[in-house]
Amino acid sequence: MPWRPPGRPGAGPTLARMFELRRIKHCRACGAPTQYRVPADDNRDRAVCTACGEIHYENPINVVGTVPVWGDQVLLCRRNIEPRYGLWTLPAGFLELGETTAEGAVRETVEEAGARIELQGLFTVLNVVRVGQLHLFYRARLLDTRFDPGPETIEAQLFREHELPWDQVAFRTVRETLQRFFADRSRGRYELHHADIG
Ligand SMILES: [Zn+2]
Repeated sequence: MPWRPPGRPGAGPTLARMFELRRIKHCRACGAPTQYRVPADDNRDRAVCTACGEIHYENPINVVGTVPVWGDQVLLCRRNIEPRYGLWTLPAGFLELGETTAEGAVRETVEEAGARIELQGLFTVLNVVRVGQLHLFYRARLLDTRFDPGPETIEAQLFREHELPWDQVAFRTVRETLQRFFADRSRGRYELHHADIG
């Protein structure tokens, strides 16, 4: 499933619209229409089935990715899909059921860049509450520089810090991760970063 990440402030769907798109309209158990209401002993609106009473809980979506590194260069992928077609991103996508965050980050790096990596430490934990997402990026060491981008990627390319197309970075969480990466790199020490993205 392709990553459908948050929009820039002022661009794309409003928060209300974003959550409307994710609303559950039919019961996953019996297919009857649902109605949003606060169930007994709860304090939030939930999609409750009007026929069988099944309650559907909705929670933030996890996006997992990597900062693949070769020497003093970082691997970026140019997006072949909307949103942000043609802009540059780190390899990342939705965590799937049945995989760990580390497995998902490696899988997305293989799918989007066709890159072979050795995963290193968890690097950024970014809450994007506005769109109900949690983004996790790992540092990763590239094992070679042969890339084989998948259908979601136009090209995969290595960039040094001063070569980075900062005005063509697709997403705020990617920009924040890259900025922290190069700052830590120049200090010679990598830390785990938490941030809330507005
Ligand atoms: Zn039902």
